[in-house]
This record gives sequence, C-alpha cells and structure tokens, in this order.
Amino acid sequence: MKGGDDAKVLAGGQSLIPLLKLRLASPTRLVDINGIPGLEYIRESGGYLRMGALTRMADLEASDLIMKRYPIIHDASVEIADPTVRNLGTVGGNISHGDPANDLPAIMLALEAEFVAEGGSGSRTMKAEGFFVDTFTTALNHNEILTEIRVPMASPRSGGSYLKLEKRIGDFAIAGSAVQLSLNSRGECERLGVGLTAVGPTAIKAKKAEEALKGKKLTDEGAIRRVGELAAEAASPTTDLRGPADYKKEMVKVLTIRSLKRAYQRAQRGGM
Ligand SMILES: Cc1cc2nc3c(=O)[nH]c(=O)nc-3n(C[C@H](O)[C@H](O)[C@H](O)COP(=O)(O)OP(=O)(O)OC[C@H]3O[C@@H](n4cnc5c(N)ncnc54)[C@H](O)[C@@H]3O)c2cc1C
Repeated sequence: MKGGDDAKVLAGGQSLIPLLKLRLASPTRLVDINGIPGLEYIRESGGYLRMGALTRMADLEASDLIMKRYPIIHDASVEIADPTVRNLGTVGGNISHGDPANDLPAIMLALEAEFVAEGGSGSRTMKAEGFFVDTFTTALNHNEILTEIRVPMASPRSGGSYLKLEKRIGDFAIAGSAVQLSLNSRGECERLGVGLTAVGPTAIKAKKAEEALKGKKLTDEGAIRRVGELAAEAASPTTDLRGPADYKKEMVKVLTIRSLKRAYQRAQRGGM
C-alpha cells in the first residue's frame, strides 16, 4: 500500500475518523476503499454465509437472510451504536479495527468465521480464532485489506444468540456474550461456540465453556450453569468507567446462560 506502514484504510470512518480527530492516529495517507466495487453483499454460497467487507451494518439489520438464519448477527446489528453509525460503519471495519468492545468480533469467534484478506502477494484466508491479536491489532498485514467474512452455513438444528449489557442505548458493551449452538438428532449439544465482548484485551473465545456441554442435553440446568461459570473464568476484564472487573465477570456468566437458553430455543425452532 502506498504510504507504507503509515497508510490507513478508510471504510465507514466511524472508528477511524474519531481517532484522527483526537490525534490518536496520524497516518500519512488514507486509502479510501469505498470505491472498490463488489465488496457489499450478503449471500449464501458454497457452504458459507458470505459478507463483503464493505457491507454496512445497517444492511445486516435489514437482511431477511440474517434475521431468519443467523439471528446471532441480527441481535448485534440492531444494538451496535445508533442508526447513523450503522448506516456508514462496515462489517469489515468493525472486525478489522480489533476493538474488544466492538460486537461483531465475539460473534465471529462463536460462529467460527473465516476472514479473506487481499494484499500485494495475493489472497489468504484466516480463522477468526487467532485473528484478534491484541487491542486494536489483528493478524492483517499492513499491505492487506479484509475483503470477505465467511461463516459456515447454518445447519437445521442450530441456533445462536447475542446479548450485551450497555449503560445506555447505543453505547459500547459493559460485557457481551455470543453463543452459537448445534444439536444432534437426539437433541444433545453437538457444537457450542462462545465469544465474549469487552472483557479482555481482545474479543475472547471461551474454549473451556465451549467444551463443557458437548453430548449433554440442554435441559441440564447444572451443565448450563457450568458453561456460564467457565465463560466468566475465561474473561479478564478491567475496572473502568463501565464498572468493576468482578461485576463484569458476573455479567458474563449471566449473559452467557441467558444467551445459551435463547440459542437453544432458536435451535428447536430451526434457527429462528
Ligand atoms: C458513537 C459510536 C458508538 C459506537 N458503538 C458501537 C457499538 O456499540 N458496537 C460496535 O460494535 N461498534 C460501535 N461503534 C464502532 C462502529 O461500529 C465502527 O463503525 C466500526 O467499528 C468500524 O467500521 P468502519 O467501517 O466505520 O471502519 P473505519 O472507521 O473506516 O476503520 C476502522 C479501522 O479498521 C480498518 N479497516 C476498515 N475496513 C478495513 C478493511 N476492509 N480491511 C482492512 N482494514 C480495514 C481501518 O484502517 C481502521 O483502522 C461505535 C462507533 C461510534 C462512533
């Protein structure tokens, strides 16, 4: 990218412009990618839900496909900031920014998404797990842009849910929990994905929580509670203006349990 390591991609500008205004970022060059055609889409093909990086968050909110088959994404799409931010902010920007308080990263971890990046040396695909390296740092190289977000296509007995606690409507999360669940034909948990928002330096994949329910029925209250406790153990929040660390951990437990129950209800209804 011209401008080298100092150049910055500009998508919706909803995170980058405030940083520029506050002089927290001063790139020598901005590369506006809004003119690149063919990066705004939401469709299912080849076994994946595919979203172009320039898809606006408002388009997620308006999409029937997202609402009916990927409610975990729909849940977030109506709670991210406000309509103005959602009209401009992009899916790719929300993920590439590497902000642990953004909502989509945790959802992508729960959904086991993959990210396609294009750069000078071609295209590569990365798993969501491992992509969020540190606060505001992702696995994207300076000469790469994120072009597509891929999520394994929803199976018939799957369901997901995202719940976030916020101080006021339109705010970033105090804590958030994304849960994606698949059931086998006996109604037992086949796969569980759990991603956490705003409770660590990056979005967190709560792996022990994901393992705890395998092969178990979702009517097992003790097992459900254990998932919540393990999710809270995976969180490493700090005390800040949004609340004390121990309160945030407790909220992770509560939100995860509620999200899990809602994901189960949706899985029983065929995802919706
Ligand atoms: C008042 C306010 C409240 C908000 N509340 C929430 C909230 O509750 N939840 C939430 O999730 N978000 C929230 N946000 C953030 C918002 O969702 C951002 O718009 C989004 O995170 C960034 O998307 P963008 O397209 O605007 O990216 P930009 O601001 O254009 O870019 C953000 C960063 O990502 C990089 N980037 C962007 N696109 C790409 C790409 N395709 N490839 C590589 N790098 C790229 C840029 O270089 C930059 O470093 C809020 C923002 C505001 C202003």
